[in-house]
Amino acid sequence: MSEFDLIRSYFANLGPCRLDVGLGVGDDCALLDVPEGRSLAVSMDTLVAGTHFFSDCDPAAIGYKSLAVGLSDLAAMGAEPAWSTLALTLPSPDPVWIREFSAGYARLSNAYGIRLVGGDTTRGPLSVTVQVHGFVPSGSAVRRCGARSGDLVFVSGTLGDAGLALRHLLAGEAVEPDLRRRLEYPTPRVELGRHLLGLATAMIDISDGLAADLSHILAASRVGAELDLARLPLSPQVAEAVAASDDWALPLASGDDYELCFCLPPERAIQARELARELGCPVCQIGVIRPGSGLECRLADGSPLMLDRLGYDHFR
Ligand code: ADP
Ligand code: MG
Repeated sequence: MSEFDLIRSYFANLGPCRLDVGLGVGDDCALLDVPEGRSLAVSMDTLVAGTHFFSDCDPAAIGYKSLAVGLSDLAAMGAEPAWSTLALTLPSPDPVWIREFSAGYARLSNAYGIRLVGGDTTRGPLSVTVQVHGFVPSGSAVRRCGARSGDLVFVSGTLGDAGLALRHLLAGEAVEPDLRRRLEYPTPRVELGRHLLGLATAMIDISDGLAADLSHILAASRVGAELDLARLPLSPQVAEAVAASDDWALPLASGDDYELCFCLPPERAIQARELARELGCPVCQIGVIRPGSGLECRLADGSPLMLDRLGYDHFR
């Protein structure tokens, strides 16, 4: 199968048709229209075989997750997803692998109304780069720099599930299907993010671990925070692992959660909880923004927890 047959078969008609796509896959460039009054939110992520996923990972999961991580970034700004582009580097043009990969990618594209509008296909060690494009009303994106002393700190979903699944896989142990799904098929919190526009003062998606990612909010906002560890939302499996070995790095620093962490003043908390209930997306208040700097984690008895590393860092 030639490069062009492959693109035509699996990528030329991926995701729903959109009126804002003048021209999609097939020419030298895509031609796209950003609606008036909106800013274009753009983010790019690369997933490398052996670093971000096992080389023998289900290709549908790789396709799904390579788009999910970008959607999580759009969610964290409050943006509405619109388009994606895909740079695919493959060791060989295996049509079965590509069909499954594109099916995983298409599943998420269709779920969020995203059209694949272009990309690049090359031969080499397996790696996937996805750029996502979304819209946000001009001037109203939720950034990392808006947290203020007294704001409450919230997180969506549960923390540490993907980290626990990865730990089991690395140890060659069996992984429960629901835990494995959290690693391979994370749910980007797109609806929650969009609805937090005008409510959240600062927001970030948790890709490297809560401690590291919340610390980015604190640095950008020039504030500190106190976390109450007893409040962290944990699945029964992660709660059990933490209870067994006091391993707080699992929910705080293992990464790949793709939940949202956001701050808002206490008077907006009721509205946020209401919103979460309507969307069917659990949120949980886990701490408070304080003057000063840095993250302080308190155990149930009030004593401080010292973390030796905040989160995943490719270059450390
Ligand atoms: P050019 O050589 O002009 O850069 P290419 O041959 O790389 O064009 O690509 C031809 C068309 O197919 C372009 O519209 C490009 O955006 C699209 N394309 C190539 N690879 C992919 C891919 N993996 N996913 C989506 N579109 C792709
Ligand atoms: Mg090209």
